[in-house]
Amino acid sequence: MTESGRVVVAGAGLAGFRTVEELRERGFAGPITLVGAEPRPPYDRPPLSKKFLAEPGLDPSLKADFAALEVDFRPDEAATGLGDELITSRGAYPFDHLVLATGAVPVALPGDGRQRFLRTYDDALALRDLLRPGQRRKPLRLAIVGAGWIGAELATAAAAHGSEVTVVEAGPAPLAAAIGAQLGAQTARWYAAAGVDLRVATAVEAVRPGGLDLAGGARVEADEVVTAVGVRPAIGWLEGSGLRIENGVAVDAGLRTSRPRVFAAGDCASFESRRFGRRLRVEHWDVALHQPEVIAANVLGGDEVYDPVPYFWSEQFGRMVQYVGHHGGAESLLWRGDPAGPTWSACWLAAGRLVAILTVDRPRDMLQGRRLIASAAPVDASRLTDPAIPVKETVLA
Ligand code: FAD
Repeated sequence: MTESGRVVVAGAGLAGFRTVEELRERGFAGPITLVGAEPRPPYDRPPLSKKFLAEPGLDPSLKADFAALEVDFRPDEAATGLGDELITSRGAYPFDHLVLATGAVPVALPGDGRQRFLRTYDDALALRDLLRPGQRRKPLRLAIVGAGWIGAELATAAAAHGSEVTVVEAGPAPLAAAIGAQLGAQTARWYAAAGVDLRVATAVEAVRPGGLDLAGGARVEADEVVTAVGVRPAIGWLEGSGLRIENGVAVDAGLRTSRPRVFAAGDCASFESRRFGRRLRVEHWDVALHQPEVIAANVLGGDEVYDPVPYFWSEQFGRMVQYVGHHGGAESLLWRGDPAGPTWSACWLAAGRLVAILTVDRPRDMLQGRRLIASAAPVDASRLTDPAIPVKETVLA
């Protein structure tokens, strides 16, 4: 189907770019405008906290060919409001369909000291320059606030470059907010082995010139501070639009907002997950990659639903960490292998079924776990705890 009309996309990150790509791939022939606040063409963010920090030659761009796609790409232009048209910093765009894909922005801490972030290409360029060995006579003292995914990956790169890294985390363990303290605590030994000073249960009161003021009066001295305490959806510009907002732009399972012909995808959107029976906003690359397929199909008159088993990966301290599923509502957590060892997995179960799995250098567990979660087959928990038995062979007959 090649329904015409005008499509406007706000936000030129992965979700925005994939939307225009998918529309063309599916034969949409009408005009498309892509408006992006950043001055550069779309690029991929995952490499920015990984290889990009170590390899000056690495190009994270998505290699968009807007001429071939016949897309009117408008960089350096921010969407500022939504009425009958999309209002931007440079004009107004009428649309037949609008896709909101403005992503997320890092949360800042209080204080008058300089805070760096790791969200954009420019953020990563600046950090790469700072970390480059030989930049200073003494090693860089780097304080990272937040031991989440980004904090851990940046700590990995900085320690490998010879920086003196302190990671300050308010929660009881690294990754506690994402995967729970019991599991997150197993990664603390990775920081120690890399020579990173990890301080958990430590709240930062303010970022000051020269370091961090901690709650209780202590200080962490640092040459540079990177704040990595999470992001919030970049939707302030939609205030007054009348769109339903619920931890991001609220969309249904077909990624439709509360307004007809307006869709939302990626980090800025919270979608109804039929599989998990709840609304989810998932700040993961895989979501921004695949949601646009559903949006393009539905713009073209289809009625597709986005309902995958969520997937995420992180590379930290020389390990590939992968997570599939959603463990909210899980009743138990089982180990596959020794979490002090080099490779292991952790499995969350609910009602005798696998609902999520985290794997450390065990990609096969992840792949088989993903299928098992999707099938919702009952599993034999005692077999699942034996890392010698493939995950797929733990299904109860
Ligand atoms: P974004 O990528 O944020 O793109 C949104 C775009 O919209 C941005 O370019 C922004 O400037 C623009 N914009 C914002 N406001 C406006 C406006 N008002 N008008 C116009 N444009 C606007 N996920 C994983 O699964 N695995 C990983 O290993 C991983 N690593 C990551 C590492 C880093 C450093 C970061 C930052 C993220 C990482 N992620 C990872 C998350 C993943 O990159 C995001 O989930 C994904 O980029 C979301 O895509 P998006 O298009 O929704 O948002």
